[in-house]
Amino acid sequence: MATDGFGRRIDYLRISVTDRCNLRCRYCMPADGVEWKSPIEVLSFEEIERFAGVAVGEGIGKIRLTGGEPLVRKGLVDHVRRLREITGLEAIALTTNGTLLSRYAEQLVEAGLRRINISLDTLDPDVYAEVTRGGKLSDALAGLEAAVAAGLDPVKINVVVVRGLEQDILGFARMTIERPLHVRFIEYMPVGDADEGGETSCAALPGGWTHADHVPSDETLERLAAEGAAAGLGELVPVSKDDAPGGWGPARYYRFEAALGTLGVISPLSHHFCAECNRLRLTADGKLRMCLFSDEELDVRGALREGTDEDVRALIRRALAMKPENHHDRIGTLRRMSQIGG
Ligand code: SAM
Ligand code: SF4
Repeated sequence: MATDGFGRRIDYLRISVTDRCNLRCRYCMPADGVEWKSPIEVLSFEEIERFAGVAVGEGIGKIRLTGGEPLVRKGLVDHVRRLREITGLEAIALTTNGTLLSRYAEQLVEAGLRRINISLDTLDPDVYAEVTRGGKLSDALAGLEAAVAAGLDPVKINVVVVRGLEQDILGFARMTIERPLHVRFIEYMPVGDADEGGETSCAALPGGWTHADHVPSDETLERLAAEGAAAGLGELVPVSKDDAPGGWGPARYYRFEAALGTLGVISPLSHHFCAECNRLRLTADGKLRMCLFSDEELDVRGALREGTDEDVRALIRRALAMKPENHHDRIGTLRRMSQIGG
């Protein structure tokens, strides 16, 4: 079992398999994208699998593949299959925008994937096109249906809540009534847009996050409860940890009384959960990040390309020792969310 310098158990690794994406969500990427890492900079699947093997030996039990958009990288299904073969790895999950999922859902299940998170911020096609700068809602919804049909479980829907954006939260709540879907409302986070010093602490990042855009989760919950009651969905009640849909993270879950699915909130800003942080992050270009909000990184790629497994193991131990206690309300990071993996 791996613990960090503050006694937290670290058993969860998020791996970004690519920094590329087929969408340009406004809160995640600039309109003209970011400068992609060159193929030589990006870890090969073989390198990722080697790293994952060492990490599992150090106590990682859960791996989430993310990006960029992980499904734009060719060969992802076989990558999942090979990761599944790592002895000691309990589970693999995928976070995706879902737009390519209808093509891959069945193959992913056959390769050993069980859990999936689909990012979907609105149920209005025009707003979806606006938020994603050109995405088609019907593609994401087809991906969602394919995930359910293929038997992925749990199927979670990630909704980043942004003030001023038309987000039919009652529509999302209704999705949880008759099917075991789990919608999680995530607070919009100030990631990206920092200057080279990385020490930005301004209230408004240029073209990015502002305090005014942030909706605290408690406000979302109040709105859900009120709109749900008015629509006859009954009372919104808390779901105990045992009944929650097997999360790896800090979501708090609720449900409308008769619902098969749940509604969760993830509140990195309004309810700090650093004390329960259980994760490390590996970027597509092979940097190990100890905290989403810290630009401190360790060079795994160098160790993988020039070193032994022992060197890689030493880096993981160093990362555990260096993991900060909390994010100190940091605003802005050098990398954008698409370059970190969420
Ligand atoms: N492309 C995939 C997707 O959209 O699910 C995986 C990568 S994306 C960076 C991972 C998650 O980060 C998504 O759920 C996305 O909505 C979320 N995300 C991106 N930028 C964010 C921000 N500024 N605040 C909160 N969540 C954000
Ligand atoms: Fe792409 Fe996901 Fe970022 Fe949207 S949130 S731009 S889909 S990486």
